[in-house]
Amino acid sequence: MAYDPENIFAKILRGEIPCDKVLETEHVLAFKDINPLAPTHVLVVPKGAYVSMDDFTANASDAEIAALFRATGDLARELGVAEDGYRILSNCGGNGHQEVPHLHVHLFGGRPLGRMLSRPAG
Ligand code: AMP
Repeated sequence: MAYDPENIFAKILRGEIPCDKVLETEHVLAFKDINPLAPTHVLVVPKGAYVSMDDFTANASDAEIAALFRATGDLARELGVAEDGYRILSNCGGNGHQEVPHLHVHLFGGRPLGRMLSRPAG
């Protein structure tokens, strides 16, 4: 999938629309999900133009890749969910039900999160 520079996270990264920022580093922006599914629901986003995790690991620098994972783990501690447990999730592509075509890692916490996936019906 080609990167669409008009996607909503690209607009947030360019400062064209606001976000509720929780962390910013050289390579990463993290902000609260606008439609939270848990008491803690943050999106951790690389600043570079990457669609998916496979695009990211194929094309990003080691520094960018390290920064995304470091920021995600650091946020789990800083947001107070590390002790009780949390979940990270990245939806990629059609079967992954990705809605925004800029790589993002969801960080959920603050309540029991249930099984990692619901079983298919039937
Ligand atoms: P997905 O691409 O399926 O991982 O879902 C995209 C996520 O982005 C959803 O959880 C949305 O609630 C969230 N989202 C969409 N627009 C915004 C926004 N402007 N600010 C923060 N979160 C957003």
